[in-house]
Order: sequence, then C-alpha cells, then structure tokens
Amino acid sequence: MDDVCIAGGGPAGLAAALALRQQGFTVTVADCALPPIDKACGEGLMPDSLAALRRLGVDLDVREGHSFKGILFSDGTSTVTANFPNGTGLGVRRHHLHALLVKHAEAAKVNLIWGARHVRLEDGSITVDGQSIPARFVVGADGLKSGIRDSAGLAAVKSEKRRYGFRRHYRVAPWSDYVELYWGPRGQVYITPVAANEICVAFISRDSKLRLDEALKDFPFLHRKLGAAEHASHEMGALSVSRSFRRIYKDGLALLGDASGSVDAVTGEGMCLAFKQAEALAQALRADNLEQYAARHKEIGAKPRLMASLMLTMEHHSEIQRRALLSLSKRPQLFESLLKFHVGEINLSGLLSRHLLGFGVDFLTA
Ligand SMILES: Cc1cc2nc3c(=O)[nH]c(=O)nc-3n(C[C@H](O)[C@H](O)[C@H](O)COP(=O)(O)OP(=O)(O)OC[C@H]3O[C@@H](n4cnc5c(N)ncnc54)[C@H](O)[C@@H]3O)c2cc1C
Repeated sequence: MDDVCIAGGGPAGLAAALALRQQGFTVTVADCALPPIDKACGEGLMPDSLAALRRLGVDLDVREGHSFKGILFSDGTSTVTANFPNGTGLGVRRHHLHALLVKHAEAAKVNLIWGARHVRLEDGSITVDGQSIPARFVVGADGLKSGIRDSAGLAAVKSEKRRYGFRRHYRVAPWSDYVELYWGPRGQVYITPVAANEICVAFISRDSKLRLDEALKDFPFLHRKLGAAEHASHEMGALSVSRSFRRIYKDGLALLGDASGSVDAVTGEGMCLAFKQAEALAQALRADNLEQYAARHKEIGAKPRLMASLMLTMEHHSEIQRRALLSLSKRPQLFESLLKFHVGEINLSGLLSRHLLGFGVDFLTA
C-alpha cells in the first residue's frame, strides 16, 4: 500500500508527488490524459514560481523557454513597466513544462498511471478503471472541475467568478523583455515570450463567445503585429475561475491546485499557488496536521486573491481602468511597489504608506 494516491497529474499533482517524495512518502499519481498534457495557459512562471519549483528539485534552465524581467501594463494610451525585484520569470510551453515535471517524477520513483478512463473516489479510496489503489491518504489535484472534490463533499463554495481564456502561439520573435498585459474594452490580452522565435498570446474575458482573432481587433498595435503572423498552435480555451471553497480537506483527503480554489488567470499565479501548496501539503502530512495545510493554503492565496480582486475591479469599470493606468504610468514607482507586494517583498501597509496619497490624488484628477 502506498502512503499517498493523487488523482490528477497536472502541475499541481506532479508538484505534490515531488514534494511528498522529498518527505519520504511513497506516491501514486493517476490521470485520465496522456503526457505531455497541454492546457490553455499564459505559460508565464514568475520568479517565485521558479523558486518554488527549485525547492521541489526542478531547476529550470533558461533554455527551456524564454526569460522576462518584469510586467508591462498598457491600454494603448498609458503604459507602465516594472522589473521583478527578485529575479527573472520564464515563459515555458505548457506541454514542455509538463514533460519536465513527468521526467522529475519518474526519477523520484513516483508510480505514474496515465490514460485511465475513470479515476474516482469510492469509499475513501481512489479507483482507477474500477481497480482500487490502496493508500493511507488521498489528494484531489484533478483541476477546476474536480470530481474528487465533489465526491468528497467539499464542493461548498465561498465565492466564485468565472471568465473565459483562450490562447494561441505565434511564430514571432518576442519584441520585449516583459510579459505584456493589454487592457481593452472586452477583456485583457497578455503576451508571454516562450522561445527566441515564439510568443504565447492569451485573451481573457467575460464573453464565452469572443475568440482571439476578434478580440485582437480591440488592440490595433497587436492586430498589426499578429494579423499576418504564422500560428504555432491552435487556439485553445479554458475557464478562468476565481473561487474559494469552505473546506479543502477532510479525514484522509486533501485538495490541491485548481481543485482547491483558484485565482483569475490574469494574475498569472495559478501554477505558483499549486507549487507552494504542494510543499505545504507535504510538510503538513509529515507533521500529521492538516489544519496546518489549511492555514498555509489560505496564507499562500491571500495576496494573489487581493491582486485578482483589484484587477477584476479594473476590468469591470472602464473609467477606473483608464484612470488607474494613467495614474500608474505617472507613478512607475507605485507599479514597482505593487509588483514587490505581489511577490511578497513588501507588505500591504508598506505599499499603502508609500503610495496611497499620491496615487489617490492622481487617480481623482486623471
Ligand atoms: C487562459 C489561462 C491562462 C493562464 N495563465 C497562467 C500563467 O501565465 N501562469 C500560471 O502560473 N498559471 C496560469 N493559469 C492557471 C494555470 O493554468 C492553472 O492554475 C494550473 O493549470 C493548475 O494546475 P492543476 O494541476 O491544479 O490543474 P490542471 O492543470 O487542470 O490539471 C488537472 C489534471 O487533472 C486531470 N484530471 C481531470 N479530471 C480527472 C479525473 N477525474 N481523474 C484523474 N485526473 C483527472 C487532468 O487530465 C489534468 O492533467 C492560466 C489559466 C488560464 C485558463
């Protein structure tokens, strides 16, 4: 019998398997898909995502993707950039990242089951195509629509907002050292460099019917650049959900990654949360204290949730969006501080005491 059986071998499930192996647990992961698994994603790994991966033994070389040094916000009129205070980020094609995580899991002697037709929770255990996988503990890392969460009775939601994301790759050399986030009337486009000759373009909006080609018309600069560019992948879509659940564990079972709650894709934080949660879960299981996992899970998600609320407020009100971007473009130090706050280099009171007054005046007079 294994110590832990994980349903779902996406970034969260594989990160958890690596973290649990580091703590000496034996682990099986079962997934319905075949690797390398692709998914609609902006494909940006922020410096703290890379640091979390390093702690799990996955040290990504810059040649695995394309590095970026910070974030750019623009609405076509006002533009502001800031560099990360804690290193550089890396854009990595999603299926390539998945292949790397699988390679590390194999090397760590995780028992991997791919291509299962049915992975279910029955009487407290995972069954794969009707066959029970005996384990002392079960982890549900089966993504946004987690069946494990529903079967475990943990689906009670605290809050939820849904949007829709689409992404496509273009055979275009990155033109900037930043992940660029463009704010438009119908949603946001963000551009992540993923190779010397390739970029990932993701669009997120509240309109499930709006596709990338149509959405790009709201961004004349991008439309000009990408209109005739060669596509390097098909358009792929996914839900972008901001959601938290009342409980993320019960006796013998815990949820992880998007199955345990998520922040809007515009934050670019989903995988980072999953990697940090994986570490926290392994430590809590070692300490035999799941309350510790729940507390740490809440702490890890606090800043990304706050950033997601701020960004969704901007996306909801065009006048707030215009004023905020104009004010930020006049105060690039505030944008730098926001990024420092985002990555945990300063706290909320530090952020507010430095910039609240000046930003407030600029915002009201913008
Ligand atoms: C448009 C968009 C852009 C994004 N951009 C970024 C970004 O730039 N940076 C970032 O960090 N995050 C980003 N995210 C978020 C990120 O993609 C997710 O947070 C991340 O995929 C969560 O990983 P996960 O392993 O929890 O879930 P998933 O990646 O969904 O993996 C779940 C796994 O479970 C498997 N599965 C499903 N059902 C079952 C079942 N019943 N049994 C067994 N296996 C099952 C699936 O096959 C899959 O492999 C973005 C999301 C969207 C939608």
